[in-house]
Amino acid sequence: MIFAILLFLCFFSQAEALPVIVKNDGIWMVDIENLAKSEGLTTSWQPIERHFKAEGKNFNCSFVVGFPYIFASGKAIKLSTPTIFADDTIWVPATETMEIFSEAFSKNYSLDSAKRILLSQPISKDSEQKNQAPTCIKPAQTDLPIHKSGSEAAGSREVKNIVIDPGHGGKDPGAIGKISQEKNIALSIAKELKKALTAKGFNVKLTRETDTFIELSERPQIANRWNGDLFISLHCNAVDGPRKNKVEGFRVYVLRDPESEEDKAIARRENKVVTLYGDKDGKDEISPVEWFKIEARLEKYKQSSYMFTESLIKTYEDGKIKKMGSGAGGAGFMVLVGAFMPATLFELGFISNPEEEKYMNSIQGQKDIAKRIANAVSEYHDEIEEYRKTLSH
Ligand SMILES: [Zn+2]
Repeated sequence: MIFAILLFLCFFSQAEALPVIVKNDGIWMVDIENLAKSEGLTTSWQPIERHFKAEGKNFNCSFVVGFPYIFASGKAIKLSTPTIFADDTIWVPATETMEIFSEAFSKNYSLDSAKRILLSQPISKDSEQKNQAPTCIKPAQTDLPIHKSGSEAAGSREVKNIVIDPGHGGKDPGAIGKISQEKNIALSIAKELKKALTAKGFNVKLTRETDTFIELSERPQIANRWNGDLFISLHCNAVDGPRKNKVEGFRVYVLRDPESEEDKAIARRENKVVTLYGDKDGKDEISPVEWFKIEARLEKYKQSSYMFTESLIKTYEDGKIKKMGSGAGGAGFMVLVGAFMPATLFELGFISNPEEEKYMNSIQGQKDIAKRIANAVSEYHDEIEEYRKTLSH
């Protein structure tokens, strides 16, 4: 009888891919997609928001990769550790998730004796007592190859790897001025900035080196993979209407619940590419529920993101382009969601303002802008070093 059950399990695990649990950093994680499917739930995956959803008749749940929350039947439940994406699989903390599933489906889930596989029906007492795993089960994976970027508290290591993200590109021109397009200005200045930062000894990586299109959500992922210490997304602002030629100035943004309608509008414009191309479910705003999910992670990088923002405003404002309002703002920029490091979106100036457009297109202007941003990075680097010294004492 036991043998028959084991044979059945062996067959089942190969045919249906039973949900597997693996240990990562000492915590058991379960493959949520297979777990949901084994309960007959319909699953979907939104690559832009990195949002996983499983829906059934009486139960639904969702996760966002990188955040320690599960949303189960309308309730947000905090998890002990964030969900992760590795080996093309979404892993969520097993213990808590299994409790939620157990309640939802009135089932006692069991692991096989080696705690490798979760069975969606109670297994017989006999096989529970048996102390060996079915032989066909492949050994549990060792720790997942999970990227560790940003897992250290901000400020605990030197600011070394700078990721510059030239906004837009390829089929997405960004804002269009009289003589130029945002995507080209962003790329030219990013290249100048790379030169200036490399000369100062930083490691620099651009999310794009050519006129190519990269999804908004992919950009912070590139930064994560590269183990970035700072993420700077470069853009040009734009307005329409009768005051078009008058509106001017730069503004530095961090990912934050927006305080003004103006900042909200800028975020909507920058996020627009999501809805214009490809993904018809894409959206241009972060919902209140998503803000809630993002908040915990933002907290970790908030202080350093603000530190850099302050340096940037200081070094940039004696240049040709003056600051707009306080020079700083916050809104839901999709390009910043998912960066596990201090991150800012920099609206260098208005492409809709003829004078600023001309300046941002001139060689001299681009060099000056790059120099100022590079100086801000240096200053930020030094401030973090000062802070690190106080930690070591
Ligand atoms: Zn832009």
